[in-house]
Amino acid sequence: MKKRKISTRSVERLSIYRRALLHGRNEFGPSVYSHQLAHACQLTAAQVRRDLMAIGYSGNPNSGYDVKRLLTSLAAFLDSQEVRAVAIVGMGYLGRAIAAFLTNRSHKIRLAAAFDVDLDKIGLTFSDVHCYSVRQMAEVLAERHIDIGIITVPAEQAQHAAEQLVAAGVTGILNFAPIVLRLHERIYVENIDMTVSLEKVAFFARPTGRPKRASKSSPPRH
Ligand code: NAD
Repeated sequence: MKKRKISTRSVERLSIYRRALLHGRNEFGPSVYSHQLAHACQLTAAQVRRDLMAIGYSGNPNSGYDVKRLLTSLAAFLDSQEVRAVAIVGMGYLGRAIAAFLTNRSHKIRLAAAFDVDLDKIGLTFSDVHCYSVRQMAEVLAERHIDIGIITVPAEQAQHAAEQLVAAGVTGILNFAPIVLRLHERIYVENIDMTVSLEKVAFFARPTGRPKRASKSSPPRH
Protein backbone atom coordinates (compact mmCIF):
# COMPACT_ATOMS: atom_id res chain seq x y z
CA MET A 1 0.00 0.00 0.00
CA LYS A 2 1.35 3.44 -0.94
CA LYS A 3 2.15 5.56 2.14
CA ARG A 4 0.77 9.06 1.75
CA LYS A 5 1.80 11.94 3.96
CA ILE A 6 0.08 11.31 7.25
CA SER A 7 0.33 13.07 10.60
CA THR A 8 2.02 11.52 13.63
CA ARG A 9 -1.31 11.73 15.50
CA SER A 10 -3.07 9.72 12.77
CA VAL A 11 -0.39 7.03 12.89
CA GLU A 12 -0.78 6.94 16.67
CA ARG A 13 -4.57 6.53 16.32
CA LEU A 14 -4.21 3.76 13.70
CA SER A 15 -1.99 1.89 16.12
CA ILE A 16 -4.61 2.40 18.87
CA TYR A 17 -7.35 1.04 16.52
CA ARG A 18 -5.29 -2.06 15.88
CA ARG A 19 -4.75 -2.64 19.60
CA ALA A 20 -8.47 -2.16 20.30
CA LEU A 21 -9.39 -4.59 17.50
CA LEU A 22 -6.95 -7.22 18.72
CA HIS A 23 -8.04 -6.90 22.33
CA GLY A 24 -11.74 -6.61 21.60
CA ARG A 25 -12.12 -9.41 19.05
CA ASN A 26 -14.74 -11.23 21.12
CA GLU A 27 -16.56 -8.02 21.88
CA PHE A 28 -16.77 -6.95 18.21
CA GLY A 29 -17.33 -10.25 16.42
CA PRO A 30 -16.40 -10.56 12.73
CA SER A 31 -17.31 -6.96 11.93
CA VAL A 32 -17.17 -3.64 13.69
CA TYR A 33 -18.95 -0.33 13.13
CA SER A 34 -17.03 2.92 13.24
CA HIS A 35 -18.99 4.04 16.29
CA GLN A 36 -18.04 0.84 18.17
CA LEU A 37 -14.35 1.29 17.38
CA ALA A 38 -14.63 4.97 18.27
CA HIS A 39 -16.23 4.11 21.60
CA ALA A 40 -13.47 1.59 22.40
CA CYS A 41 -10.80 4.24 21.65
CA GLN A 42 -12.66 7.23 23.14
CA LEU A 43 -12.75 9.02 19.78
CA THR A 44 -15.52 10.07 17.42
CA ALA A 45 -16.91 7.81 14.69
CA ALA A 46 -16.15 10.54 12.14
CA GLN A 47 -12.49 10.55 13.20
CA VAL A 48 -12.28 6.76 12.86
CA ARG A 49 -13.83 6.89 9.36
CA ARG A 50 -11.47 9.71 8.28
CA ASP A 51 -8.39 7.84 9.53
CA LEU A 52 -9.38 4.58 7.82
CA MET A 53 -10.21 6.38 4.60
CA ALA A 54 -6.79 8.09 4.72
CA ILE A 55 -5.04 4.71 4.57
CA GLY A 56 -7.23 3.62 1.70
CA TYR A 57 -9.29 1.11 3.65
CA SER A 58 -12.25 0.32 1.49
CA GLY A 59 -14.58 -1.29 4.04
CA ASN A 60 -18.17 -0.16 4.18
CA PRO A 61 -18.91 1.84 7.36
CA ASN A 62 -22.67 1.25 6.86
CA SER A 63 -22.48 -2.54 7.08
CA GLY A 64 -19.55 -2.50 9.50
CA TYR A 65 -15.87 -3.06 8.82
CA ASP A 66 -14.67 -6.62 8.42
CA VAL A 67 -12.31 -6.98 11.40
CA LYS A 68 -9.94 -9.44 9.70
CA ARG A 69 -9.61 -7.30 6.57
CA LEU A 70 -9.26 -4.14 8.60
CA LEU A 71 -6.42 -5.69 10.64
CA THR A 72 -4.71 -6.71 7.40
CA SER A 73 -5.04 -3.16 6.03
CA LEU A 74 -3.71 -1.65 9.25
CA ALA A 75 -0.75 -4.05 9.24
CA ALA A 76 -0.04 -3.28 5.58
CA PHE A 77 0.05 0.42 6.40
CA LEU A 78 1.77 0.43 9.78
CA ASP A 79 4.28 -2.40 9.56
CA SER A 80 7.43 -2.63 7.51
CA GLN A 81 7.70 -5.55 5.15
CA GLU A 82 10.83 -6.64 6.94
CA VAL A 83 11.46 -7.14 10.66
CA ARG A 84 12.90 -3.94 12.20
CA ALA A 85 15.87 -4.36 14.48
CA VAL A 86 16.17 -2.17 17.57
CA ALA A 87 18.98 -1.43 20.04
CA ILE A 88 18.82 -0.10 23.59
CA VAL A 89 21.56 2.23 24.85
CA GLY A 90 21.87 2.20 28.64
CA MET A 91 21.09 -1.07 30.42
CA GLY A 92 20.23 0.34 33.85
CA TYR A 93 16.88 -0.13 35.57
CA LEU A 94 14.80 1.26 32.72
CA GLY A 95 16.84 -0.28 29.89
CA ARG A 96 16.53 -3.73 31.45
CA ALA A 97 12.79 -3.30 32.07
CA ILE A 98 12.27 -2.30 28.43
CA ALA A 99 14.37 -5.24 27.24
CA ALA A 100 12.20 -7.61 29.29
CA PHE A 101 9.05 -5.98 27.90
CA LEU A 102 10.16 -6.04 24.25
CA THR A 103 11.48 -9.58 24.12
CA ASN A 104 9.19 -11.63 21.90
CA ARG A 105 6.51 -8.91 22.02
CA SER A 106 6.23 -8.25 18.30
CA HIS A 107 7.20 -10.29 15.28
CA LYS A 108 7.84 -7.04 13.36
CA ILE A 109 10.17 -5.40 15.89
CA ARG A 110 13.13 -7.34 17.25
CA LEU A 111 15.39 -6.21 20.04
CA ALA A 112 18.76 -7.06 18.50
CA ALA A 113 21.41 -5.51 20.79
CA ALA A 114 22.06 -3.47 23.91
CA PHE A 115 24.91 -1.11 24.75
CA ASP A 116 26.42 0.31 27.91
CA VAL A 117 29.63 1.87 29.19
CA ASP A 118 29.60 -0.07 32.45
CA LEU A 119 32.15 -2.88 32.40
CA ASP A 120 29.97 -4.87 34.82
CA LYS A 121 27.17 -5.00 32.22
CA ILE A 122 29.15 -5.35 29.01
CA GLY A 123 29.27 -8.99 27.92
CA LEU A 124 26.14 -9.96 29.88
CA THR A 125 22.80 -11.02 28.40
CA PHE A 126 19.59 -9.33 29.57
CA SER A 127 16.27 -10.91 28.54
CA ASP A 128 18.02 -12.70 25.66
CA VAL A 129 19.75 -9.56 24.40
CA HIS A 130 23.53 -9.24 24.51
CA CYS A 131 25.04 -6.08 26.01
CA TYR A 132 27.97 -4.67 24.03
CA SER A 133 30.36 -1.83 24.75
CA VAL A 134 29.26 1.46 23.14
CA ARG A 135 32.60 1.32 21.32
CA GLN A 136 31.25 -1.59 19.27
CA MET A 137 28.09 0.30 18.29
CA ALA A 138 28.90 1.10 14.64
CA GLU A 139 30.01 -2.44 13.90
CA VAL A 140 27.10 -4.19 15.70
CA LEU A 141 24.43 -1.88 14.22
CA ALA A 142 25.71 -2.41 10.69
CA GLU A 143 26.04 -6.17 11.14
CA ARG A 144 22.49 -6.54 12.53
CA HIS A 145 20.83 -3.93 10.32
CA ILE A 146 19.65 -1.97 13.35
CA ASP A 147 18.11 1.40 12.45
CA ILE A 148 16.05 2.19 15.57
CA GLY A 149 17.57 3.16 18.92
CA ILE A 150 16.09 3.41 22.41
CA ILE A 151 17.88 5.80 24.76
CA THR A 152 17.83 5.01 28.47
CA VAL A 153 21.03 6.66 29.66
CA PRO A 154 21.29 9.50 32.21
CA ALA A 155 20.15 12.88 30.82
CA GLU A 156 23.67 14.30 30.57
CA GLN A 157 24.75 11.35 28.37
CA ALA A 158 21.70 11.27 26.12
CA GLN A 159 22.78 13.76 23.42
CA HIS A 160 26.10 11.96 23.01
CA ALA A 161 24.38 8.55 22.90
CA ALA A 162 21.93 9.88 20.28
CA GLU A 163 24.76 11.22 18.11
CA GLN A 164 26.56 7.88 18.35
CA LEU A 165 23.40 6.07 17.24
CA VAL A 166 22.86 8.44 14.32
CA ALA A 167 26.50 8.20 13.23
CA ALA A 168 26.06 4.42 13.22
CA GLY A 169 23.04 4.64 10.88
CA VAL A 170 20.01 4.92 13.15
CA THR A 171 17.10 6.94 11.68
CA GLY A 172 14.54 6.69 14.50
CA ILE A 173 14.98 7.18 18.25
CA LEU A 174 12.70 6.51 21.19
CA ASN A 175 14.11 8.77 23.90
CA PHE A 176 13.35 8.19 27.56
CA ALA A 177 15.97 10.63 28.89
CA PRO A 178 14.50 13.92 30.15
CA ILE A 179 16.23 16.19 27.62
CA VAL A 180 15.40 17.59 24.19
CA LEU A 181 17.70 15.91 21.68
CA ARG A 182 19.17 18.14 18.99
CA LEU A 183 19.49 16.06 15.85
CA HIS A 184 19.09 16.48 12.11
CA GLU A 185 15.42 16.80 11.17
CA ARG A 186 15.59 13.64 9.05
CA ILE A 187 15.92 11.66 12.32
CA TYR A 188 12.51 10.80 13.79
CA VAL A 189 12.55 11.26 17.58
CA GLU A 190 9.74 10.25 19.92
CA ASN A 191 10.08 11.31 23.56
CA ILE A 192 8.49 9.51 26.47
CA ASP A 193 8.46 11.23 29.82
CA MET A 194 6.48 9.70 32.65
CA THR A 195 7.12 12.72 34.88
CA VAL A 196 5.46 15.10 32.40
CA SER A 197 2.51 12.70 32.02
CA LEU A 198 2.14 12.30 35.77
CA GLU A 199 2.27 16.07 36.29
CA LYS A 200 -0.43 16.41 33.65
CA VAL A 201 -2.61 13.85 35.44
CA ALA A 202 -2.01 15.61 38.77
CA PHE A 203 -2.92 18.95 37.17
CA PHE A 204 -6.15 17.79 35.54
CA ALA A 205 -7.15 15.65 38.51
CA ARG A 206 -6.89 18.55 40.95
CA PRO A 207 -9.72 18.30 43.48
CA THR A 208 -11.22 21.70 42.62
CA GLY A 209 -14.14 22.67 44.79
CA ARG A 210 -14.27 19.27 46.43
CA PRO A 211 -14.17 19.13 50.26
CA LYS A 212 -10.63 18.48 51.48
CA ARG A 213 -10.05 14.97 52.78
CA ALA A 214 -8.72 14.72 56.31
CA SER A 215 -5.13 13.44 56.20
CA LYS A 216 -4.33 10.18 57.94
CA SER A 217 -2.13 11.99 60.41
CA SER A 218 -4.93 14.37 61.54
CA PRO A 219 -5.78 13.97 65.21
CA PRO A 220 -9.19 12.38 65.84
CA ARG A 221 -12.08 14.84 66.46
CA HIS A 222 -14.02 14.63 69.69
P1 NAD B 1 20.34 3.90 35.56
O1 NAD B 1 21.39 4.75 36.17
O2 NAD B 1 19.87 2.68 36.28
O3 NAD B 1 20.84 3.42 34.11
C1 NAD B 1 21.57 4.18 33.22
C2 NAD B 1 22.47 3.24 32.41
O4 NAD B 1 23.08 3.98 31.38
C3 NAD B 1 23.59 2.62 33.24
O5 NAD B 1 23.66 1.24 33.01
C4 NAD B 1 24.84 3.34 32.76
O6 NAD B 1 26.00 2.56 32.86
C5 NAD B 1 24.45 3.60 31.31
N1 NAD B 1 25.19 4.67 30.65
C6 NAD B 1 25.63 5.85 31.18
N2 NAD B 1 26.22 6.58 30.23
C7 NAD B 1 26.15 5.86 29.07
C8 NAD B 1 26.57 6.10 27.75
N3 NAD B 1 27.17 7.24 27.39
N4 NAD B 1 26.36 5.15 26.83
C9 NAD B 1 25.75 3.97 27.15
N5 NAD B 1 25.33 3.70 28.41
C10 NAD B 1 25.50 4.64 29.36
O7 NAD B 1 19.14 4.87 35.22
P2 NAD B 1 17.59 4.50 34.94
O8 NAD B 1 16.83 4.62 36.18
O9 NAD B 1 17.53 3.23 34.15
O10 NAD B 1 17.16 5.73 34.02
C11 NAD B 1 17.72 5.86 32.73
C12 NAD B 1 17.21 7.12 32.04
O11 NAD B 1 15.82 7.03 31.85
C13 NAD B 1 17.44 8.43 32.82
O12 NAD B 1 17.71 9.46 31.90
C14 NAD B 1 16.11 8.64 33.51
O13 NAD B 1 15.88 10.01 33.80
C15 NAD B 1 15.18 8.15 32.43
N6 NAD B 1 13.86 7.70 32.91
C16 NAD B 1 12.81 8.06 32.16
C17 NAD B 1 11.55 7.63 32.48
C18 NAD B 1 10.43 8.06 31.58
O14 NAD B 1 9.26 7.90 31.89
N7 NAD B 1 10.74 8.57 30.44
C19 NAD B 1 11.32 6.82 33.58
C20 NAD B 1 12.42 6.42 34.34
C21 NAD B 1 13.70 6.87 33.97
